Amino acid sequence: MMEKPIKSNIKIEHLIETSNYFYQNLLGYKPEQTSLQQVPKNQWSEFTNTRGLNPNSSGIYLPRNQTAVIQQNNPLSLFHEYFGHGLYCEKSQNGQALVNLEKKLLEEERQEFSSKKFTLEDIQKFRAGSQAFQGLDEFRKENLAQYETFAIWTEYLLSEKHNLKEKFGKKYDSFSREEKEAIDSVINFSESYGNLATFYASGLARKTTPKRIESLLEDIYKDKLKDVEFALIYGSKKDFSDIDVFMVGKTPQESHSDWLDVKYKSHKEFNNGLKNFDVRTCNPLMTGEFIFGDKNYFEKSKQKVLTQLITEKAIKHNLKWFHRMQRLKDKNSKDNFLTNKFGDYSQTYLGNALALRKGIKLFAKEDLLSYSQSEKLTQLKGGTENNAIRKYDRNVSAESF
Ligand SMILES: [Zn+2]
Repeated sequence: MMEKPIKSNIKIEHLIETSNYFYQNLLGYKPEQTSLQQVPKNQWSEFTNTRGLNPNSSGIYLPRNQTAVIQQNNPLSLFHEYFGHGLYCEKSQNGQALVNLEKKLLEEERQEFSSKKFTLEDIQKFRAGSQAFQGLDEFRKENLAQYETFAIWTEYLLSEKHNLKEKFGKKYDSFSREEKEAIDSVINFSESYGNLATFYASGLARKTTPKRIESLLEDIYKDKLKDVEFALIYGSKKDFSDIDVFMVGKTPQESHSDWLDVKYKSHKEFNNGLKNFDVRTCNPLMTGEFIFGDKNYFEKSKQKVLTQLITEKAIKHNLKWFHRMQRLKDKNSKDNFLTNKFGDYSQTYLGNALALRKGIKLFAKEDLLSYSQSEKLTQLKGGTENNAIRKYDRNVSAESF
């Protein structure tokens, strides 16, 4: 009896469709600009040879035209090249920078070789003397580890989703110890904090919606989230800025990283902040978007800020924090990030103190910053000693910090 050839029943189109659906749901986007090219297995070595690419690979990603080239019907390569490198180059800042550097080089090469015949060696010679190539090469070396690890983690993630764990397992066994360590640390991270957190920590664009941030916080805080009275998202909400979350509840536990900043206040801290019109409480409360929790409590707190009287104590509180932030700024003068952060805080506290002094309640960071700017200008022009800052300095210096 003839044995039937084992036909591959993995349909690449199906894998693309279900993966796209998964990405769209989780992240709010999927690969859009990446194209996919499949090369039959028996033509693979010819394909790689003529282009000077590694013939032992089973797939290649070309940043210059954002194309994932894979061996026909190879699911791991699809995951790695198309969803891993492809998405990274579309949706991370490093990936976008890589594509731009590649395009710059491509443009130079087009100009150089447009009117003559050339060989692979000609291109290599040209690149050796090209600034664009040097820049690209350096950038690649700096970012290669992150770039590769993300693509391998994508293979892990999507092979789990599609019951192809065994295939990934086999590939994993072929990795060097270093590669294993790198990928293990991402897998551990994703198991502790979830997939969304892993995408964000890898530098992928953050399309924040209240629903998405709620599931992110569930993954990170797990059952501790039940102690949270309400949670808000505030700040710039840009694709590559950090995610600013404000929470009030029983078990304050803050979380700060370069992509997530959770301010978590106890009831007592929250009430103090309210009474004092503290910037770090009132800015999130009054400008933030509700994520989950007790909406009534949230609305009532906002109402309280709008109706309560401005006290001398509140003005002094903000001025005191202006000085504290100023000192923190000076202390960290060597760290650009901290200098900016504390500098911004000190100016918003100052703006707030000055505005409250005039009976004005401002909550947006930009409003507070521009208020402190314009007040300073007025005072400079007036050249008067009797300005608000000095006046309050005297009051404040009597207090212990
Ligand atoms: Zn790769």
